Amino acid sequence: MRSSARNVQRLIKTLKAKGIKDARVIKAFGEVPRHLFVPPGLEHKAYQDAALPIGGGQTISAPSTVAAMLAVLQLSPCDRVLEIGTGSGFQTALLTRLVAEVYSIERNLSLIKEVGKKLIRAGCGTAQLRAGDGMLGWSQHAPYDAIIVSAGTLEIPQALLDQLKPGGRMIIPLKGRINLITKTRGGLRFRELSSCRFVPLLPGHTG
Ligand code: SAH
Repeated sequence: MRSSARNVQRLIKTLKAKGIKDARVIKAFGEVPRHLFVPPGLEHKAYQDAALPIGGGQTISAPSTVAAMLAVLQLSPCDRVLEIGTGSGFQTALLTRLVAEVYSIERNLSLIKEVGKKLIRAGCGTAQLRAGDGMLGWSQHAPYDAIIVSAGTLEIPQALLDQLKPGGRMIIPLKGRINLITKTRGGLRFRELSSCRFVPLLPGHTG
């Protein structure tokens, strides 16, 4: 299943049926060809609402999960965003359509090696990529308006909280539930969203 307009429209219909209302997020799904981000041989599944294996025991998240996480962040076009867990690069590509600056970190070197090329092919080459441990954040470009963590954890890495702007939002799968955390003057505000299954956020990096 390639990126025929029909497949893309069917996926968009599914996202809307699952409650995604953010028009900019929906538009981005219409613009980024997901089949460029799935492994060879799985292109026919690229426009289904399903997580797929991308190698090294990792997965490209289901489109509706990605859409829900992006929508709840209420991103604005001038935002600077940090993504932890680049994975396939699909969400990274969507982010380039939604905000001004995208920084993305992946601990798995063999995955991130492929992402730069894929982003350029998809016309989304403005993201800056880094191989390494995203739990440490990327302090050179901090503070961020939003941080999106694509791997599950039991504790929020302190460096990520430190690198969030006052008023900034972080979306993170925490103890099996997606949480929206807002950094306010009075401290952190938590909003628990849906339950979720994500690959674990792990320290260090790997080949
Ligand atoms: N949004 C991505 C999700 C990929 S799965 C996609 O849809 O393709 C989560 C990714 O997080 C995996 O690639 C995994 O290697 C990465 N990851 C786990 N711990 C990490 C860490 N500490 N720093 C950076 N990336 C990490």
